[in-house]
Amino acid sequence: MNGTVYKSTGSWYNVKGEDGSFIDCRIKGKFRILGIKSTNPVAVGDVVEFDIQDKAGEQVGVITAIHERKNYIVRKSVNLSKRTHIIAANVDLAFMLVTLKEPVTFTDFIDRFLVTCEAYHVTPILVFNKIDQYTEEELIQVRDLIDLYTDIGYQTLEVSAATGRNVAEFKEMIKGKTSIFSGHSGVGKSTLVNAIEPGLDLKTAEISQQHKQGQHTTTFAEMFDLSFSGQIIDTPGIKGFGIVDMENSEIGNYFPEFFAIKGECKFHNCLHLDEPKCAVKQGVESGTVAWSRYKSYLQIIQGEEENYRTDAYAE
Ligand code: GDP
Ligand code: ZN
Repeated sequence: MNGTVYKSTGSWYNVKGEDGSFIDCRIKGKFRILGIKSTNPVAVGDVVEFDIQDKAGEQVGVITAIHERKNYIVRKSVNLSKRTHIIAANVDLAFMLVTLKEPVTFTDFIDRFLVTCEAYHVTPILVFNKIDQYTEEELIQVRDLIDLYTDIGYQTLEVSAATGRNVAEFKEMIKGKTSIFSGHSGVGKSTLVNAIEPGLDLKTAEISQQHKQGQHTTTFAEMFDLSFSGQIIDTPGIKGFGIVDMENSEIGNYFPEFFAIKGECKFHNCLHLDEPKCAVKQGVESGTVAWSRYKSYLQIIQGEEENYRTDAYAE
């Protein structure tokens, strides 16, 4: 039978069969697929084939094959090995919730997320939440950011989970799709998801609280069906997706506005760093390329850590 993985604990996989019922499955043999060295061969969102076996009167499933993935999102494994951990497979939409205060979301955090989505072929949507809490001046800043990302070609939406503004539009976006959520703790992920599907609390906030205390918790993603069709994949403890194994030469391709003009750079393999006659750097100078985007690019290519400081938004 075919089914979809809804939850994985490392050794057991909770699979929803085509008939709509759930069964716990194990894996048969070793899966070495797609040449990725991952710590988990099967991930939430995977479409699998499984057999049902009777073990001492109890029905257990055995996963025998994985269907080809449309895409998958990985992060570096917590231990320092080179292996990666597949967070989820077959994701349609990746939402990032952004707030400019309480907490602050820096643009480099947004840009890393976008780069990762580009690399993994997942459609990103930036949701600017807490639109009710801004002053006129702050609203201008929010709308400037929205314009910046809309001009590049990204989907954006301003919402207020608290007042309900644009929550219906948000619901329309996720209807019938498989979505994943990210954003700093406190941006309102749980509140927003709860506003469209009461009772569905994302666990992200709770777990990142534990992270602050320095605890290493192994957490597992879990998929939930939405009552109005579609699924949400909850990824406890994952605030962003890591950039894994990206060549310097490909990073610029994941900035669509750089990619669009790279043909005008003097060198076809221009990294937009110190090369002469670089169209991207000229764009930054003339203002057609945002400085914040170029800065994020430099950070990623130079392998720097993102600008995430919990003390930056002391209340
Ligand atoms: P999460 O960590 O991303 O899941 O964030 P939560 O959903 O737990 O929200 C964090 C805090 O922000 C809570 O106190 C919410 O009530 C508040 N909050 C969420 N959405 C909004 C909003 O649209 N406007 C305002 N003013 N507060 C919000
Ligand atoms: Zn260049």
